[in-house]
Amino acid sequence: MKKIQMKTPLVEMDGDEMTRILWQMIKDELLIPFVDLKTEYYDLGLVERERTKDQVTIDSALANKKYGVAVKCATITPNKQRVEEYNLSEMWKSPNGTIRAILDGTVFRAPILIDSIKPAVRNWKKPITIARHAYGDVYKSTEYRVPCPGKAELVFTGENGESFRETIYDFECGGVLQGQYNKDSSIESFAHSCFQYAIDTKQDLWFATKDTISKKYDQTFKLTFQEIFDRDYKAKFDELGIEYFYTLIDDAVARVIRSEGGYIWACKNYDGDVMSDMVSTAFGSLAMMTSVLVSPDGNYEYEAAHGTVTRHYYRYLKGEDTSTNPMATIYAWSGALRKRGELDELPELVNFANKLEEACIDTLNDGIMTKDLVGLVSEGYTATAVNSIGFIKAIRERLEAKLA
Ligand code: NAP
Ligand code: MG
Repeated sequence: MKKIQMKTPLVEMDGDEMTRILWQMIKDELLIPFVDLKTEYYDLGLVERERTKDQVTIDSALANKKYGVAVKCATITPNKQRVEEYNLSEMWKSPNGTIRAILDGTVFRAPILIDSIKPAVRNWKKPITIARHAYGDVYKSTEYRVPCPGKAELVFTGENGESFRETIYDFECGGVLQGQYNKDSSIESFAHSCFQYAIDTKQDLWFATKDTISKKYDQTFKLTFQEIFDRDYKAKFDELGIEYFYTLIDDAVARVIRSEGGYIWACKNYDGDVMSDMVSTAFGSLAMMTSVLVSPDGNYEYEAAHGTVTRHYYRYLKGEDTSTNPMATIYAWSGALRKRGELDELPELVNFANKLEEACIDTLNDGIMTKDLVGLVSEGYTATAVNSIGFIKAIRERLEAKLA
């Protein structure tokens, strides 16, 4: 069989531990036999990050900006224990944080659905994609533990001499205090990423905040979205027959539960943190979740939503059999290849990405699964647990049949 050709390289960001092992298996079994794989390789494994003083992470993000599409393996975010384990000279920052700061994006997470695993919410029939603003608010706040009675004020000193001062509270006892911020530029890029992604995936977009209570802060989010929608996206939405819908966050929560899914739910940073864990758990598993970072200027970084699965890796190192679910990592590759195919007008590559995903779903529908999923299967379905390589080989068989 002639291999499918690529035009532009994908930016390949390799990672750590068990997902690094899966990464190689996926390339060897599911990609290289079929595609003349062109990548610009960056090793974001912790050893290489230490050797390059984390420059490799920055270089990979810049390459993502240059070429437009990257695929990333899960990576270790070092903590104290990792500093000892890997003998690190510094506690390097989270690669995802570094990449996000350079690309300035929004993270979209959507579950992969199969018939035999039913969502905990009975009426959910289609995936719900969470779009999380990954900048500011409580994640960048300044906090103060008020020790004694006293006056708390909100003070702003403008560069142009303009200033603002208002009493927050006259404390008659101790208490707590917090200052949060966000930036117009970041809220605007969040809005553009969401509208762009809704158009790309032809789904409705929902957005919710608490603007009735937060009359300046949340109101700014609401107005920014509406203004950008009316100016830049309304015509395209009308043409595609999709909708932009704004409501209050408490109303949104009720509607989401009653809905059948099939839309994107844009959330402020904290709402997105909490709601994405709720939605992903209700759909089944983090290993069945796709994740893509989309920047406002149209760069894409595809990854798995889970971590490096350390516990499985230590078992793998001892020579024990491991049944780690590679679905999210395979979908990171198929998502990136499909996007590359669309941008470079390579229908064969787009077709390959679609067929690869179909082969994964067929394998699961045939009851061949990794251990984590077998436990989630509904009554009336049968499933057999296989190890990671057994699962990948079962996908390969089906993929070969589809491409023949
Ligand atoms: P994790 O790697 O997501 O794994 C937590 C547990 O979830 C695993 O022990 C396993 O449960 C289950 N699990 C996750 N993915 C699975 C899969 N694909 N197949 C089967 N089971 C799966 O999270 P963690 O152990 O908290 O973090 C490990 C490392 O990953 C950390 O160093 C962290 O910094 C890093 N991390 C990276 C990213 C990223 O790069 N995007 C995200 C999160 C964490 P059982 O052991 O019960 O089978
Ligand atoms: Mg969280």
